[in-house]
Amino acid sequence: MSSDQIPDIYFGTEVINRVSFLREDSEFIGNSVSHPSTRFIFFNNVNPLVNKYLQNKLIILTNGSNQLKSDPSPDHQVIKTGLSSLPEWNEAVRTWKEDNKNKNADLRDNGKPTFLFLGIEDASVGLDLKRLKIEDDDLDTHSEDEKYLDHQGRYQGIPYYAVDLSKSEKLSEIILNFVNKELQVFSDGKEKSDENSTKNSQPTPLDNGIFYTHSRRHFLGFTSKEASLYSHGSMYFDWLTRNRFCPGCGSKVIPIHAGGKLWCTNVATKENGKSACPVHNASVSNVSFPRTDAVIITAITNAERTKILLSLGKRHAATRMYACTAGFMEPSETVEVATKREIWEETGVVCSSINLVMTQPWPFPGNLMIGCLGVVEFNGVNENIHLGHDKELEDARWFDVDFIRKFVYPNEVADDDNFNEENILIPMEQSVAYHLIKMVIDQAHERKVQNGGKL
Ligand SMILES: [Zn+2]
Repeated sequence: MSSDQIPDIYFGTEVINRVSFLREDSEFIGNSVSHPSTRFIFFNNVNPLVNKYLQNKLIILTNGSNQLKSDPSPDHQVIKTGLSSLPEWNEAVRTWKEDNKNKNADLRDNGKPTFLFLGIEDASVGLDLKRLKIEDDDLDTHSEDEKYLDHQGRYQGIPYYAVDLSKSEKLSEIILNFVNKELQVFSDGKEKSDENSTKNSQPTPLDNGIFYTHSRRHFLGFTSKEASLYSHGSMYFDWLTRNRFCPGCGSKVIPIHAGGKLWCTNVATKENGKSACPVHNASVSNVSFPRTDAVIITAITNAERTKILLSLGKRHAATRMYACTAGFMEPSETVEVATKREIWEETGVVCSSINLVMTQPWPFPGNLMIGCLGVVEFNGVNENIHLGHDKELEDARWFDVDFIRKFVYPNEVADDDNFNEENILIPMEQSVAYHLIKMVIDQAHERKVQNGGKL
């Protein structure tokens, strides 16, 4: 499947090649984490480091200096100085490299950052290596400032890492102050929010909008590339943070393979030579791999595409947001069966066909939304709404497609058309729910056009 056939969805755009098989290659990991071109994003647990005043909010730093020349964007203040100018950073990288290689049990003890290899930005995701080569030949740059990593002539690109600094407050403070200092070089003379800073003291990182954000507003205001990087790092760190002890023996677990897997540090053996930890003995120790929770989410319509069923969850009752039906998949269920069950349990409606349309990672904290289209054959029974089964919904309704179209295409609505007297909302554009609703609306329109305006 070529990349232009894969639907682009917020949090799910393919922006790096994960080269997951290279995670356990400690030589590759060692070279890549200290390469000048390598880019880092930072977290405090699951909260990313941002500058809320910039258009490109996510703060991305490199090891070497003058690496980000290839990202010209008027709203993106590029930090030219590399992290390798900080001795504390170099020391942390050096220590982690050794810890990762030797599976040291104190790999993520207090004071140490947790590194997570995300992948490499390479030609498979549109990186123009030739252009970087030209930049590299630029006389202004130094020979050690290579613009991309070349691993054995086979894998070439810019490595990306996420770093959790929640256990290393000192390094976190050093990095925040570094970013603050570097960005001030650019923002001199620019209007700043300085209400918290006194006239004679330098503004703090927080004064300049540099902090670890937990705001959903920021998470949903990233560019598509930032959203995917954030989602990738956040979902891994949520898993790594919540899992600190082995489910088999209670010993400490540490992230190995550059953060891709959790490993029990109990290396004791029993008399029979077997490991004292049952997880180490299991043929597939899948408790040690990251977890993704599958959620099915469905736009429900009729065969003619004249109606769409949307529901108001009790949680969204105050905002009047009518959304798609959604729920967690259960063990040993197909997507189709889970979708049919969830729709019936919540709305009482019986779907006759279910098609998987698109999926979306949803990092709050670790979901995969599986977007489906459910079609109901109206026969006087199937379409009847009944909210009395699991009582999760405040309301569910069959809306006319023409009515919901006005939410999807607000430009078509006349100024004096007070169509939305109830002040209802539909899901935001970043969500798979919105794309599913839009798909039904667009299919309805296509049918109308094909039928010469009649349904
Ligand atoms: Zn164990």
